[in-house]
Amino acid sequence: MLGSLLAILVVVSAGNSVGVRSSWDEATGWAHPSATDGRGFTYLRTQAYDPRTPVGYDPCQRIDVVINPTDGPPQAQIIVQEAVDTIAGISGLQLRVVGTTDESAVSRWESTPAIWDRPPVLIDWTTRAKYSGLTDKIVGRGGSISAMTITGKAVYVTGAVALDGPYLTRILLWPNGRHIVRMVVMHELGHVLGLGHIYRAGEIMSYEGTPLAPGPGDRAGLAALGTLSCGIWR
Ligand SMILES: [Zn+2]
Repeated sequence: MLGSLLAILVVVSAGNSVGVRSSWDEATGWAHPSATDGRGFTYLRTQAYDPRTPVGYDPCQRIDVVINPTDGPPQAQIIVQEAVDTIAGISGLQLRVVGTTDESAVSRWESTPAIWDRPPVLIDWTTRAKYSGLTDKIVGRGGSISAMTITGKAVYVTGAVALDGPYLTRILLWPNGRHIVRMVVMHELGHVLGLGHIYRAGEIMSYEGTPLAPGPGDRAGLAALGTLSCGIWR
């Protein structure tokens, strides 16, 4: 899908407890080669010229975020704001919510922006009827689109998150629902910025568990993505 790598988050309810596990979609395959990485995080993509250097956003540029709240809960915008603030604080990336839109995540993923054209990252509260990538087991998908610099470096220029608005609205009724929904948004933002999944409890990018906050691996990965080299010429 045009250089974007999407990942999915699955929320399952087991009795009174709530577990969250996530998995790749067909775009990336199930097996992630470093999903048990000792650093506590993985990258969705790395540079073709250096497998240690991740593909991410330019940390010297603002990353504007717009929200399509159409099919979300009444708290759609504040929950996204909370998630964006948390991820921005940890990564150091200049994420900021700038407004709302009626665009769809799919339209953003299917766009082909030039490297100097940086459409806002879109958080789309949508429905399974509108977007078939959401199913009874997939409540969110997130990913970004890269462009290539003249030096051959891939840089993310925009991205999107699709959220199952009606289902997440029901989760908000659960005792810890607000926390879970905020975590779903943070997990998908992690994918947008460049993090993959990790097999480690206590991480929002993990396949298991519902951590109260980003874990040490999440923090290390986000901080690494926030300190990539700046500019499209390097
Ligand atoms: Zn995921």
